[in-house]
Amino acid sequence: MISLVDAQRVVIDACPLLEPVTTAFTDAVGLVLADEVAAGEDVPPFANSAVDGYAVVASDTSVPGAELAVVGELAAGAAPPALPISTGQTIRIMTGAPIPGGADAVVMVEDSELLGGDVVRLTATVQAGTSVRAAGDDVRLGDVVFAAGTVITPPVLGVLASINARAVRAFPRARVTILSTGDELVTDGGPLAPGQIRETNQTMLAPLLEAAGCIVQPVGVVRDDEATLERALSLAAEGSDAIVTSGGVSMGDYDVVKAVLGRIAEMRWMQVAIKPAKPFAFGMIDGVPVLGLPGNPVSSLVSFELFARPALRRMMGHADPHRPRVLAIADDGVRRRPDGKVHLVRVVATFGDDGRLHVVPVSAQGSHQLAATALANALAVVDDGDGIPPGGEVSTILLT
Ligand code: AMP
Ligand code: MG
Repeated sequence: MISLVDAQRVVIDACPLLEPVTTAFTDAVGLVLADEVAAGEDVPPFANSAVDGYAVVASDTSVPGAELAVVGELAAGAAPPALPISTGQTIRIMTGAPIPGGADAVVMVEDSELLGGDVVRLTATVQAGTSVRAAGDDVRLGDVVFAAGTVITPPVLGVLASINARAVRAFPRARVTILSTGDELVTDGGPLAPGQIRETNQTMLAPLLEAAGCIVQPVGVVRDDEATLERALSLAAEGSDAIVTSGGVSMGDYDVVKAVLGRIAEMRWMQVAIKPAKPFAFGMIDGVPVLGLPGNPVSSLVSFELFARPALRRMMGHADPHRPRVLAIADDGVRRRPDGKVHLVRVVATFGDDGRLHVVPVSAQGSHQLAATALANALAVVDDGDGIPPGGEVSTILLT
């Protein structure tokens, strides 16, 4: 058996980075920058007011109660007046409007009193610069705003828009072909013949892949026949960046994925020292990684989370491709016996009034019992041994 950490390293290190592509910024959310981004513009592009109020010459307000002549009004989007204001004058100004020439501060409207006849009394005194947002205060022309490797979150996307970076070099979404193996699997919604079950894994894994940032190419069910599977895998390798399979990797006579990969791919078949999801096959067909997940639905899910998702995220440029991991309190403990394996116990994790994360195992932990696992939002990583006593701490992988 190979340890979880070693197996993850083998898989993640073997998966090649995708070739970066120039991408319209509107399509780039969730992607990782391949190059740094420097600002081609100042943000804000001009000095403007931080408040609604009166643009003034600050020295005019050196004593509270100054009365100034209101000589104009400036809304956001308006061009500043051609002539500067002079001492004794003010312009009514809205948030985001350009600071007019001659003015160097803004008095908030809350600190003013309109006297009529276009005269305003200012009850506050301000210094030069008060409530003025200088040009380049957020981003300066030429600044490197984002380093290569930055994840383009929605706020990052907002900054790209603010500096007019309309195209960026980023790692693309991995195109992932997914297929299920198993003669017993049915997808058409019809009645089940004896021995048949309904296909579950592809249905579950396709949206998980999408949520991980991949483009999913579902193939459906491939029969447990080596020639058919070999054709399907070869075809998939031509049009995808990675292939995810479910089923056919354990010790049975019909474990065709293992057999075919052993023949046509550079394959690494693993027995990982974990429960569930012990069998895992990893291979390369013409440089395209094949991630062979086990068939039991819970094992498939756990194996996806531990191996496939991080491998694919690494291909898409994520420096840390793993889910976040935190120490949580196992209120009732987690019972287990020593068996040489790390157990990935499906748990419900919630924040308690103490501000800490607390975990409780879901009611059924069999690798075929997806209904119970479906309600879990985390995996407690319980090392080999006698488990966690009630109230003990356990390292927990957050799945959401
Ligand atoms: P296998 O890994 O192919 O030996 O399958 C292990 C168990 O998982 C068997 O009980 C299969 O019927 C079941 N199984 C395999 N693939 C799927 C699937 N796509 N959906 C639901 N169950 C599956
Ligand atoms: Mg099978």
